[in-house]
Amino acid sequence: MKEAALHPRASPPAAAESPRVAVIGGGISGLAAAHRLCELAPRLHLTLFEASDRLGGVLETIHRDGFLIEKSADNFITSFPWGVDLCRRVGLGDQLLSTSDEHRQAFVVSRGKLRKIPDGFLIMAPTRLWPVIASPILSPLGKLRLALEKFVRPRAEGGDESLASFARRRMGREAYERLVQPLVGGIYTADPERLSVLATMPRFVEMERQHGSLLAAALKNRRAQAAKSADSGARYSMFVAPREGMSSLVDAVAARLPRGAVRFGSRVERIAQRADGRWSVLSAMSNARQTAVEEIYDAVIVAAPSPQAAKLLENIDASLAADLSGIDRAGAAVVALAYDRAQIAHRLDGFGFVVPLVERLNILSGSFSSVKYSGRAPEGKVLCRVFLGGACQRELLDRDDATLRRIAHEVLARLLGIAGAPILSEVVRWANAMPQYHVGHVDRVARIEAAVAKHRGLALAGNAYRGVGVPQCIHSGEQAAERTLAHLFAESASG
Ligand SMILES: Cc1cc2nc3c(=O)[nH]c(=O)nc-3n(C[C@H](O)[C@H](O)[C@H](O)COP(=O)(O)OP(=O)(O)OC[C@H]3O[C@@H](n4cnc5c(N)ncnc54)[C@H](O)[C@@H]3O)c2cc1C
Repeated sequence: MKEAALHPRASPPAAAESPRVAVIGGGISGLAAAHRLCELAPRLHLTLFEASDRLGGVLETIHRDGFLIEKSADNFITSFPWGVDLCRRVGLGDQLLSTSDEHRQAFVVSRGKLRKIPDGFLIMAPTRLWPVIASPILSPLGKLRLALEKFVRPRAEGGDESLASFARRRMGREAYERLVQPLVGGIYTADPERLSVLATMPRFVEMERQHGSLLAAALKNRRAQAAKSADSGARYSMFVAPREGMSSLVDAVAARLPRGAVRFGSRVERIAQRADGRWSVLSAMSNARQTAVEEIYDAVIVAAPSPQAAKLLENIDASLAADLSGIDRAGAAVVALAYDRAQIAHRLDGFGFVVPLVERLNILSGSFSSVKYSGRAPEGKVLCRVFLGGACQRELLDRDDATLRRIAHEVLARLLGIAGAPILSEVVRWANAMPQYHVGHVDRVARIEAAVAKHRGLALAGNAYRGVGVPQCIHSGEQAAERTLAHLFAESASG
């Protein structure tokens, strides 16, 4: 930045000009924000700053030798409507694949073997007791303790609690270690001893509060759900994926932004609020000359990951920046491995498996990508993805690619009975990509939101606040856009 040539590009717009909004970060959160701005205010002057030379952030689909490989997310949940909704609005509604009906189940590693996760075990609680009793995953004592969940008194004191403490308190240590920890660890790449139950699984806290027991609440919910799905006939499965991969969602959203709105290779280095309330945005182009540009905007949406957001905001609001940089993050690696079907002895009659830490296998989970969704592998081949790292095994990410590939293949080979080497492999590393919602996160986010509200024309979006999944990121972007427009229209009405 030192030798950068500074080009002040724009002077403040005259009152009649369209408002100018900058969105910082071209991951799915920033894209959703930019798209919503254009949907609601097509005449707005929009700039989407993206530091790299592509959009999508962690979302990226690669095509190799007939395989469709996702570098990070490979699908998203439909119980939050925002992912499916956006897909419909950008013309991908009929491109969403449901998970294959035939093998809708998953496994957990138990004493070195893959065992079916008991039917109806929903991350934190069984909705039915019998399948857990019938499964060999828990010892007789572990099963008895789980069955006694109904008689465990709800926690008297309110407030936050770690997910591990919540699960152990209600269901016992064994159900926590052998079922809850691997399922939660697989989703959040997190350490449940530090993860906030309020921020990640509030519905289970509510179940305890309302019904006194998770088992009792699950039974009630199951009856209500059965009545509901008999009524409505669900259209999508619990998870869906765009037929051509997550990049097709990114491309479809990007195609709806105004021509010239996206500034690739343009890292925002500094933002500042001026005396007239507008925002100056200083960006550096990653071209040979490292040109720096300062521009003026009426509003700014910061959709960069929380550490970068903290850096951009430290001169504006130090305590807001401290709260942002206090959100811990963990990294993960994804190793994609492909085999001929004939190399694998296992029936592959499920979508994948999770691994309890107590199994000491050095991986978090494995996904049978080509079983889950059609079109992920050529006929007669199988694509798997193995996840490593996370908050509990951070040191694994210091290993080189060849070691990660070897670990992933060896574990798969042992669990699935694989003969021979993979026919294709790909290692993808995501440093610090996953925010960790630790105990106290809900209060932290409330402080962050209150602080942001004090800076007129500023909004935040991203995976660090109210959900890490793609639908929640989309929602955070769309809400940031709507808040921004409400501010701009209120300003113009009063001015
Ligand atoms: C391995 C992995 C697997 C996952 N699996 C799933 C899944 O199956 N389902 C699901 O729903 N979710 C999943 N997720 C979570 C989900 O994919 C992410 O939370 C989400 O995509 C994050 O989007 P984002 O836009 O908030 O951030 P990012 O994707 O990180 O995008 C941020 C963007 O901001 C840019 N940027 C940063 N700083 C600046 C700056 N100063 N100026 C300009 N640009 C900047 C970056 O270059 C980047 O493009 C997974 C995540 C990972 C890592």
